[in-house]
Amino acid sequence: MALIIPKCKKCDKEIKGDEEVYVQLRYPKRKGITEITAYLNLEGKFICKDCSTKINI
Ligand SMILES: [Zn+2]
Repeated sequence: MALIIPKCKKCDKEIKGDEEVYVQLRYPKRKGITEITAYLNLEGKFICKDCSTKINI
């Protein structure tokens, strides 16, 4: 699986491992939870903690 570096959709900051993030996501219809990581990389919109405290999601 290709490694995709997630970035905050608000400030474009790289999301680091272990960092607390918020993910805006449409729950997949077809696929099971086992593919959630791949799905996150494709469809997930990450918001870093800094931004999440400034906005209402
Ligand atoms: Zn941010």
